[in-house]
Amino acid sequence: MKILVAIKRVIDANVKVRVKPDNSGVETANVKMSMNPFCEIAVEEAVRLKEKGIASEVVAVSIGNQQCQETLRTALALGVDKAILVKTDDQLEPLAVSKVLKKIVEQEGPEMVLLGKQSIDGDNNQTGQMLGALLGWGQGTFASEVEVEDGKTKVTREIDGGLQTIELKLPAVVTTDLRLNEPRFASLPNIMKAKRKPLDEIALADLGVDTANRTETLSVENPPERSEGIKVETVAELVDKLKNEAKVI
Ligand code: AMP
Repeated sequence: MKILVAIKRVIDANVKVRVKPDNSGVETANVKMSMNPFCEIAVEEAVRLKEKGIASEVVAVSIGNQQCQETLRTALALGVDKAILVKTDDQLEPLAVSKVLKKIVEQEGPEMVLLGKQSIDGDNNQTGQMLGALLGWGQGTFASEVEVEDGKTKVTREIDGGLQTIELKLPAVVTTDLRLNEPRFASLPNIMKAKRKPLDEIALADLGVDTANRTETLSVENPPERSEGIKVETVAELVDKLKNEAKVI
């Protein structure tokens, strides 16, 4: 079984994001970028399925600028066999990303596509679902457990108030939740080996996909500053403030 993993390069989760002075977006110049954390979990799951002898090949794909090569090399160092960079300097929306991924699925012929449930920059949580719909494949979203047997996959999903287990016929789309696994770190020998693994580049324009944006960002703003807290002396004072100042009780 071949697995395709979609990985996005995003601002590192530990960076304090700054809004651009003109409110058109967030600063990305000279900011540390990393693999989206949910995509790291997707890579780890694919590599584990390969180590169990269930997957025969793991291919990673990223759609973005030239620097995404670095993120793909990280995936190769973590155990991915081959990487594909679909090169564009544009920021694509989830619909466009899923259309591009569909093209790559048609070229590569995987039986499973693993994606993160969400990219931590756009917080969209749309790409996996849209890709499943475009391909006409079943989808197991927010996976906290994935099993593969006899041409089927059993996906345990994290849903409000509990877990749901579903069975899907392969090929299928699976998106990863936080508790699916704990991603490994790349070892130095594997980082060296990754330099010799194949990394193909495709220009976005060569895929012939309509990637025009359907939405326009009007403004990006910081959340309002939190005002300083106060200490109250008695419970009666607290109740009074909650009732008459905050007006929450
Ligand atoms: P989103 O729908 O933007 O929250 O992203 C969900 C998942 O779709 C991510 O975790 C990735 O697996 C995949 N994805 C989104 N954007 C890209 C991209 N530019 N390149 C590759 N994969 C992507």
